[in-house]
Amino acid sequence: MKSQDIRKKFLDFFESKEHLIVPSAPIVLKDDPTLMFNNSGMAQFKEYFLGNAVPKSSRIADTQKCLRVSGKHNDLEDVGFDTYHHTMFEMLGNWSFGDYFKKEAIAWAWEFLTEELKMDKDRLYVSVFEGNEAENVPFDQEAWDLWKQYVPEDRIILGNKKDNFWEMGDQGPCGPCSEIHVDLRTDEERAEVSGRSLVNADHPQVVEIWNNVFMEFNRKADGSLEKLPAQHVDTGMGFERLCMAMQNVTSNYDTDVFTPVIAKVEEITGLKYTTNDVILNDSEESQNKINIAIRVIVDHVRAVAFAIADGQLPSNNGAGYVIRRILRRAIRYGFTFLGTKEPFIYQLVDVLSTQMGAFFPEIVSQKELVKNVIKEEEASFLRTLDQGLHLLDTVIEKTEGKVVDGAKAFELYDTFGFPIDLTALILREKGYDLDEAGFDAAMKAQKDRSRAASEVSKDDWNVLIEGNVETFEGYDKVENDVKITRIRKV
Ligand code: ATP
Ligand code: MG
Ligand code: MG
Ligand code: MG
Repeated sequence: MKSQDIRKKFLDFFESKEHLIVPSAPIVLKDDPTLMFNNSGMAQFKEYFLGNAVPKSSRIADTQKCLRVSGKHNDLEDVGFDTYHHTMFEMLGNWSFGDYFKKEAIAWAWEFLTEELKMDKDRLYVSVFEGNEAENVPFDQEAWDLWKQYVPEDRIILGNKKDNFWEMGDQGPCGPCSEIHVDLRTDEERAEVSGRSLVNADHPQVVEIWNNVFMEFNRKADGSLEKLPAQHVDTGMGFERLCMAMQNVTSNYDTDVFTPVIAKVEEITGLKYTTNDVILNDSEESQNKINIAIRVIVDHVRAVAFAIADGQLPSNNGAGYVIRRILRRAIRYGFTFLGTKEPFIYQLVDVLSTQMGAFFPEIVSQKELVKNVIKEEEASFLRTLDQGLHLLDTVIEKTEGKVVDGAKAFELYDTFGFPIDLTALILREKGYDLDEAGFDAAMKAQKDRSRAASEVSKDDWNVLIEGNVETFEGYDKVENDVKITRIRKV
């Protein structure tokens, strides 16, 4: 089943259960001081749960563009290294605002997966909140009893407060959740270990796909819980993970969400993406690095393209800086492992827009802007990388022995935005070591200086304010032919 059809099935299914289907909110949040990006389906409905606004319908379903790269949910460093965490992903969700509760939510989740999508029941695991006496929250007996109608007890797992209890904050709505996991291991592997004994194995191919949160309590300022007057359901299912399960593959990158984009990278670079065999090892082998780099690039381009399409340009602070860093991470992986020295990531936007444009028209209407912005960013960062390489060569030439001065590496990082992990990598490849302690010390010294002043920009370079007088400290770097200056107020 194609990804397009899977998404449609979800929305149609919940429409048939009288849900109002709404569009995804933008990925970038402009008016929420607590959150830069939408990181879950429920973010746009927060006010309903808090009782500050009334929803159009007490049942809603949608697919939400999410980005998990900052704050409480930050999956950035996993991306590329596993096969099911993305920066940007779609979260399919259904909601009840004071309408149905556990009974219907669980029955429909099961019906959707096993009847509508015909997933193999034997591969599904569910988790139920085990309770926590110290925190005064009870075992979710109700969910347990409901699941027991569908799932053998051996595949109902008890989960702790960290995984199976959702709270908005220290106070406010909260409640237990039930997750659904899918076991994508081979039949042989499943025959060997399954059921309860699988729990602690934390196998990378037993993947969480759907979280059902049952908001039934309100936590009061004194820490005690009271029943909410109206109970809510908030569910979130990873679309790409669902596609993986439905398309009989064991990596999100092997679904049709990603394969056309990967094919384009292969076409541009002349390199091949090979899949699962190397996913789970972290060998230094070059094919493994190529695979990681390709996963990083095809993941990151989606995050960046959709953020730009939703109005967030890369910039030097706030959300724009997060987007710039994601794109630079992709450029750096390309530069280092695929040998791409010219802009190319922007070309992937055409594929994205063909692939996702039918459902997300913004990627089609903003395509030219998105491409231009990405191309410019690529060109400018590639120049930085190129300059940095030359400077690094000079540093190496002046190095006596085999250990490169950490303070010099810091200078490259601080002044030219040359990433330290890239420095370390290049040094290693040339048979040198980096004096990491020296680098850390220089970094700490700089942080102390910034803290002493007050930092007003979260950038590669800092604008420091200590008083009122500005002194020009020199050009930090040249970007898009604009000189970025470092100004210190003394
Ligand atoms: P995980 O434990 O795998 O990190 P999670 O518990 O953090 O997932 P939830 O906050 O429960 O995730 O989000 C609901 C669903 O969204 C998950 O069940 C999963 O299918 C999907 N999901 C979460 N994070 C990601 C991600 N970074 N990339 C793709 N899908 C994700
Ligand atoms: Mg997570
Ligand atoms: Mg989880
Ligand atoms: Mg979860």
